[in-house]
Amino acid sequence: MEKDLIGLLVVEGGEETEFQKFEVLASQLPLQIKKVKLYETVRETSIVDGLTAVFVRRHFLERFHEELKRAMRYQFAISVLMVDVDHFKSYNDEFGHLVGDRTLREVAQVIRDSVRRVDVVGRYGGEEFVIAVPEIEKKAALELAERIRSAVAQKRLRVYDEETRVTVSIGVGAFPEDVSRDPAAEASDQLVQSLIEKADLALYQAKAEGRNRVVAYRV
Ligand code: GH3
Ligand code: MG
Ligand code: MG
Repeated sequence: MEKDLIGLLVVEGGEETEFQKFEVLASQLPLQIKKVKLYETVRETSIVDGLTAVFVRRHFLERFHEELKRAMRYQFAISVLMVDVDHFKSYNDEFGHLVGDRTLREVAQVIRDSVRRVDVVGRYGGEEFVIAVPEIEKKAALELAERIRSAVAQKRLRVYDEETRVTVSIGVGAFPEDVSRDPAAEASDQLVQSLIEKADLALYQAKAEGRNRVVAYRV
């Protein structure tokens, strides 16, 4: 393709007289491969957030919904972590938006390094991340949240010639315990919203209690 070797077409057996057919086929292949690659790029850019490299909100919600349906069917636990950067407005005011952007990227990186492959991470809003954690109990989800909180708080961020830090607050909601008496517990799509709401309430609580902490939703 454009003078680059991108693959080999190997034909075994066959008649020498049919060789021409394969030449036609082979000449079509690079174009098709190019199309597939382009499609993958477009798909990637529409589901992954450009700044932080985690899923965009819409795609996160789709994936979370699927995981929740699986959890309901096979009766395993699933938790949701809402992560929000503390006092980020004044951080931006102090260091500027570009530094703020870089910091957000670092926070996302810490989150990505802390979770397992099966966990689903999304950017929920400006400086707010959401993580779906399937197949572990609420207690383990809280431990993960605490690891993330602590890793962010310890991370040194280079800003020009200075070093800064940020902290995050995290709210945790868990299926099934936090929603077991919820009328929404019947339908998985309402349950998605309900669980996020619970995590959000816990996050609000974490902010009210002084930030830089993990709070579990309490029924
Ligand atoms: P709190 O501890 O209560 O969360 O305070 P806060 O200042 O973080 O909360 P608030 O919601 O008032 O402000 C969020 C700020 O995050 C507002 C906005 O300037 C900043 N922000 C949101 N998205 C981005 C972004 O993509 N880049 C940068 N640099 N800043 C962002
Ligand atoms: Mg904030
Ligand atoms: Mg916020």
